[in-house]
Amino acid sequence: MAGSAVLGVVATTVLSLIGGVPLAPLDSDGIGRSRNLAAVGPAALPTSQAITSESGPVHPVRVEGSIDYGDSGARFGASRWGHVHEGQDVFANSGTPLIAVRDAVVLETGNDGGRGNYVAVYSAAEDQTYVYMHMLRPSPLKRGDEVPAGAEVGAMGCSGSCYGTHLHFEIRTGKGIEKKPVDPLPMLQRWPQVPE
Ligand SMILES: [Zn+2]
Repeated sequence: MAGSAVLGVVATTVLSLIGGVPLAPLDSDGIGRSRNLAAVGPAALPTSQAITSESGPVHPVRVEGSIDYGDSGARFGASRWGHVHEGQDVFANSGTPLIAVRDAVVLETGNDGGRGNYVAVYSAAEDQTYVYMHMLRPSPLKRGDEVPAGAEVGAMGCSGSCYGTHLHFEIRTGKGIEKKPVDPLPMLQRWPQVPE
């Protein structure tokens, strides 16, 4: 698959940068940055490229230990009733804190029969929208609020169309919850947890 090949190239590029100054901008999708941070620290990269604890990315679910991504039905692209699953489901206990993955601005919050309590935030630096669904309660955030990476945006629940407590997490390219979704799992598996 072409995507895998691209990711492989990015990872190789990141590794080649360890101990040195980047010769070229990294891909903007965030792959490999946590590795880069661990190896050389944020100062070795241009500000817009670096992972820092201040600007993210960080994992959207704050749990102890390993993270439960469920089975194949929880994956991006899994078939649903009449459509395709456009996010990755992440399983943990009800009330588990949900975290802003990057510095972002709140695009919208709401509650409907499908999404349940949801919030969508947008990172201008990444030009990505992150959507959190089925939250326990309405998000305390309001449209236009600025949220720093690592801040709580809500809590895991099972509101809306939900078959068991989980976060439905989407990443969309561009600004808005109707933009093109991408598979969040490769990024989720790399993003570090935020300590409490
Ligand atoms: Zn889902």
